[in-house]
Amino acid sequence: MGLKKKAAILVAGAGIAGCAAAQELQSHGLDYLLLEKNVEPGGLTRSINIGEAHFDYSGHFMHLDHCASPAAIPYANQSDEDWQLINRKSTVYVNGALIPAPFQYNLYYLPKAIREQCIESFHKRPKIERCQSFKEYLLSGFGQAICDYFLFPYNEKLMACSLDDLSVDSVKRFFPLPERQKIENGYAQEGANLKTGYNRSFWYPKTQGIGLLSKGLSKGLKALQTCCPIEKVDLAQECAFTPLGKIRYEKMLTSLPLKEFCAVSSDLSLHTLASCLKHTRVFCLNVLVRGPAPKSFGDTHWIYIPDKGIPFYRLGVYSHISAKMNPPGHTTLYLEAAFSDNATPPAMDDLIKEIFFSLERLGWAKRANCRVICANWIDCAYVYFDHDRQGTVNKILDILHTYNVYPIGRYGLWDYISMEDTILSSIETAKKVTGMCSNDDKME
Ligand SMILES: Cc1cc2nc3c(=O)[nH]c(=O)nc-3n(C[C@H](O)[C@H](O)[C@H](O)COP(=O)(O)OP(=O)(O)OC[C@H]3O[C@@H](n4cnc5c(N)ncnc54)[C@H](O)[C@@H]3O)c2cc1C
Repeated sequence: MGLKKKAAILVAGAGIAGCAAAQELQSHGLDYLLLEKNVEPGGLTRSINIGEAHFDYSGHFMHLDHCASPAAIPYANQSDEDWQLINRKSTVYVNGALIPAPFQYNLYYLPKAIREQCIESFHKRPKIERCQSFKEYLLSGFGQAICDYFLFPYNEKLMACSLDDLSVDSVKRFFPLPERQKIENGYAQEGANLKTGYNRSFWYPKTQGIGLLSKGLSKGLKALQTCCPIEKVDLAQECAFTPLGKIRYEKMLTSLPLKEFCAVSSDLSLHTLASCLKHTRVFCLNVLVRGPAPKSFGDTHWIYIPDKGIPFYRLGVYSHISAKMNPPGHTTLYLEAAFSDNATPPAMDDLIKEIFFSLERLGWAKRANCRVICANWIDCAYVYFDHDRQGTVNKILDILHTYNVYPIGRYGLWDYISMEDTILSSIETAKKVTGMCSNDDKME
């Protein structure tokens, strides 16, 4: 069957946002077409399954705030039997040792001199009336030493930019100010806060990795076309161009990164606006290691690494998350390194060498025992909440709505949202668009 020439609603990108939106449209019997550039749907939430080894494209853990369990996620076709609810065990690598995360609530585990500096400067933290940047917000909330040992270097590594460039108003919703009592308890007493903290537990499939979620969300979709990148969109004429042909639409839901969508659109004002949108690129290295994880890891699920001499900002241990993620006698790891979109990224081979050099130096894995399973770039990973983001995104969305184009998903909306929020908000947008459709827009 050839590609349809016309669809009442074109859905761009079959990650979890596009699949969830398409499911909602399909449930109303609407005439839609879902286009995906890759060979399979799932976007960032796919998994690589090689024999008994399972990897995500990068570790993806499901924190549910609205749905009671995976089975309650609309259109996800999940059974709770296939998932486990896991208590998070994450650590921070500081001063040559691992301490429990969150750093600020577990000061007890630091060497005495550092612990004293942290609590003292927390008590003497500067009062800043109107913080101008994320950096000032952190300093006034946590004090100098907690910032210097962890918050500044870690967030600078993760965002690959200066924290002066990030706007406080948009960032603080992900980063609430600390509770004084918890900092003090965590300073005075071992284990005081081990059972508290943001996102205490998460859901994860017992086998196969997070791809189980995207497989469920794409199940039963009748109008999904893979291997079909959208190369150009004529907004005024309401048509999209792909290597498989031109498609006319009346409304479009797009989960393409907003910057990328504007760049392929025909409206030059969108090109100019989108050039202000900035983001990180993340390099993700998935490695199968012969032998157990180092003893120092304990049973940690992932480690935050603020040290700028180490190229990766996070190391995750899949095999500690689910025993069925790896063949017996092996450990499965992922390592993430971030770069700003305006810097030329290093060559992949050099980066891999650098990562293995660090792993050996730290005594965490020997190169000879490691097999690279997948090394991939996530081209748009974290969008920058810089001082211009909100205004720019609002202007772009206003223009796109006049063309009947409705962005969805974490990157379509140029936001920082979880998988659950991505799915639920995409369904909401699809519902709104459904309300704008008539009987003529139903599938024949
Ligand atoms: C490193 C990292 C770790 C994360 N960890 C977590 C986590 O632990 N928990 C959590 O809840 N969330 C996590 N997230 C966020 C999560 O990945 C997103 O919320 C979710 O994947 C967004 O789904 P989406 O469908 O909006 O985007 P995507 O998954 O990016 O889907 C977009 C789709 O559009 C397709 N596409 C792109 N361009 C075109 C084109 N021109 N034509 C056709 N198709 C196109 C892509 O191939 C892709 O399939 C993480 C994100 C990153 C980067």
